[in-house]
Amino acid sequence: MFAVKGGAKKRADCLANECTAKSVWVNCPVCHNKTKTKIYQDTLALRFPMYCPKCKKEMRVDIIRRKIYPCTKVYK
Ligand SMILES: [Zn+2]
Repeated sequence: MFAVKGGAKKRADCLANECTAKSVWVNCPVCHNKTKTKIYQDTLALRFPMYCPKCKKEMRVDIIRRKIYPCTKVYK
């Protein structure tokens, strides 16, 4: 994901430690299939439109500290 070159190495290492190691794929809250949405431990998302390839539909979720909360209300 990150190119490591010369002076950028230290920063890339830091990013790798802070982010890459803790990233997880989001599981669909309906069918528990792995989706193509990736999050990190500190990812915060509200009303995030997550697509599940198995359910073949988009659903909106709240993502707070690696927990997925399906949105029951849709705000327009
Ligand atoms: Zn699903």
